[in-house]
Amino acid sequence: MARFGVDFSFDPPSIPELLAAGVTFAIRYLSDDSRKNLTPPEARRLSDAGIDLVVVWQTSKGFMLEGHDAGARDAAAARAQADACGMPDGRPIYFALDIDPNPLTEAQWAQVDGYLDGAASVLGQPAIGVYGGWQAIDRLVGGGLAAWGFQTSSWSAGWWSPLAHLQQYAHNVALGSGLVDHDRATSDNFGQWRVGMQLVTRAQWGARPPKNQTPLNRAVQHGTAVHYTASDADEQADHANCARRVRAIQDFHMDGRGWADIAYSYLACKHGFVYEGRGTGVRTAANGTDTGNTAYHAVCFLGDDTAGRDDVTDAGRVAIRQAVEHCNRWAGVSAFRPHSWFKATACPGDQLRAWLAAGMPVTDAAPPQEDDMTEDQARQLAAIHAALTVPGTTSPEQTVNLLFDRVRSIDGIVKAGIVINWAPDQLQQLAETLAPLMAASLADQVADKLAARLAE
Ligand SMILES: [Zn+2]
Ligand SMILES: [Zn+2]
Repeated sequence: MARFGVDFSFDPPSIPELLAAGVTFAIRYLSDDSRKNLTPPEARRLSDAGIDLVVVWQTSKGFMLEGHDAGARDAAAARAQADACGMPDGRPIYFALDIDPNPLTEAQWAQVDGYLDGAASVLGQPAIGVYGGWQAIDRLVGGGLAAWGFQTSSWSAGWWSPLAHLQQYAHNVALGSGLVDHDRATSDNFGQWRVGMQLVTRAQWGARPPKNQTPLNRAVQHGTAVHYTASDADEQADHANCARRVRAIQDFHMDGRGWADIAYSYLACKHGFVYEGRGTGVRTAANGTDTGNTAYHAVCFLGDDTAGRDDVTDAGRVAIRQAVEHCNRWAGVSAFRPHSWFKATACPGDQLRAWLAAGMPVTDAAPPQEDDMTEDQARQLAAIHAALTVPGTTSPEQTVNLLFDRVRSIDGIVKAGIVINWAPDQLQQLAETLAPLMAASLADQVADKLAARLAE
C-alpha cells in the first residue's frame, strides 16, 4: 500500500496535526534560504514522532540548468545541511528540476545532465535523486544520472513514471495550521530516514548466530524492559572497545548460561550506539518472568549506574530511549519498565530507574506541544491513518467516515486488518481517542459501534 506523506516549506503544520492526518513521512527542503529549510531540531522532533524524512535541494527556478560546477557546489552545501540535521550516510538528496521539462532544448538537458554529474562527483551517484515532471524522471533516472525519482503531477499530463519512488499528486492543500503538497511513496525504500539510532548490526559487532529463536506474538505485546549490565568493566572509556564487551556478554549468555543467544533485544552504550541483540520480534531471556519475556522486549545499558559517576551519559540515555522506542514501534505499544518492575532486583540501578519513572527525558527532547491529544493518542491515531493510507485523507473525520463507509462495522474493520489484534481496552482507547476529534453525531455513532463490539 502506498504510504502517505507531505512536503512543505514556509507554512509547516504542527507535529500533532501531521500525525492526526496520517502523515508517515515529511519531505523537507534544503536550500540557500534558511527560512524554508529543514532544521536539526525539527528533524529530531519529526523523527521522535515517528515521521520519516526525505530531503530535496531547491533554490531558484531552473537552477539545474547551471551545469556541472553548480551541481558540485550545491551538493556540498546540501550534504552539509543534511549532515547537520542528522541524515545518516547512504541516504539520497533529491535535486528539484522545478520547471516544465517539455520545452527544454538538448543544450539545456546537457546542462541538467552536467549538474547531476557535478552533484554525483560530491555525493556519489547512488545518493542522487531528482524531482520533476514525468519527462525529467523518465530521462534522468532512466538514463542513470539519478538513482531516485520524485515525480510531480505538474508537467506530466496524467502520466506516472514507473521509475519514480515518490509521487507528488496534490498541491497547496491546507493541513491544520499549515500548507502542504500531498505525496505518496510507491516503493518501500524512497530515500527516507530518521535522526536516530546509531545501530551497530550483529554483523558489525561480530555476533555468533543464535542457537534458535522463538518469535514474539505481536498481539500480546506490552512494552520494553530496561536493564543494565551492572559491571563497570562494561562501561568502556573508548567506544572502540564496546563491540568486544558485547561479544563477551553473548559468549557468557550462550556458553555460561546455555541460552540461545545474547539475552537482550538491544544493548546501548554510553557513547550513544545501539547494538542489535536478538532484535525485534524475538523472545528474550532477560526479563526474569515468563510473562516478561513473552510480552516485553529487553534493552540493556552497558554500565554500572553507580551514583555520582558519569556512566549514564546524555548520549547513553538517548540510545536507550531510541532502542526502547524502536522495539515498541514494532509491537505497537508504548510502555517501558525497569527490570525491577518484574521481579526483585536492583536492575537497572537507581539512576536509570528514576529516569524511566520520569518518562525517559533526553536533553534535546521536543518541547511540550500545546495540543489536546497525548502523544500516545496521537500515535494510535496515526497508526489508524497509516493503516488506511488513502491518498487525500486529511482529517480524522474523513478517516472515520472511511472506516464506516468502507467496512460498515467494527467487525469489518477487524476483518480488514485495520485494528486486528487490538484488545478490548485498546478499542476502548481508540473510541476515546477519536471522540473529541469528531463531530458529536459521528462520535456517537462510533461510540455505539464500539460499545456493541465491546459487549460481545
Ligand atoms: Zn535486568
Ligand atoms: Zn560505545
